[in-house]
Amino acid sequence: MEKVLVAPAPTQKDIIRRLEQESGTEVSLCYQCGKCTAGCPAAFAMDYTPRQVIRLLQLEMVDEALKAQSPWICATCETCTTRCPRGVDVASLMDALRREALRMGIVTDHRVATFNQTFLKLVERYGRVHEVGLLMEFNLKTRQLFKDAELGLPMFKRGKVHLLPEVIKDQGHVKQMFARVKQTGGESS
Ligand code: SF4
Ligand code: SF4
Repeated sequence: MEKVLVAPAPTQKDIIRRLEQESGTEVSLCYQCGKCTAGCPAAFAMDYTPRQVIRLLQLEMVDEALKAQSPWICATCETCTTRCPRGVDVASLMDALRREALRMGIVTDHRVATFNQTFLKLVERYGRVHEVGLLMEFNLKTRQLFKDAELGLPMFKRGKVHLLPEVIKDQGHVKQMFARVKQTGGESS
């Protein structure tokens, strides 16, 4: 009987290399000065600060980094990347960690992942986001039907949100963009 050949699971080093390739940066460059954390507006809510996330990767503690809440709390403001004296692209690494966690099915904050996916789906469909649709779909998926409902009516009365989605004129470019992302193995929606 023929043996079944199974590709070996990626090692911690393989995953770190992939994260570095995707983010175009190297974790070994970091000398742990903490300037990224000092400027991060979301660090107070993170379980590991941006500096500590990089340290986890330097120590090859990849599982710990992938299970951390921090990448999902990161607002991608890029302050950390701008401040880093060693040119470490911390913001892109956070993004790469989110994608890797999605690929490996170890998402620790499903609400953020659900929000991202719903947002992208609407942009792909209409060329721009539809706030009411986003809120309704997100609330349905996260089983909190009336969350923020009290804010909707005043915003609707002031014309800030619209019940029906607006579709942009030339959707072709947006669709091409999404198709390209999917071709390159990305998760567009
Ligand atoms: S600012 Fe750069 S060098 Fe300093 S801790 Fe953050 S990533 Fe490392
Ligand atoms: S990109 Fe993320 S980690 Fe970096 S400063 Fe902004 S919120 Fe913090």
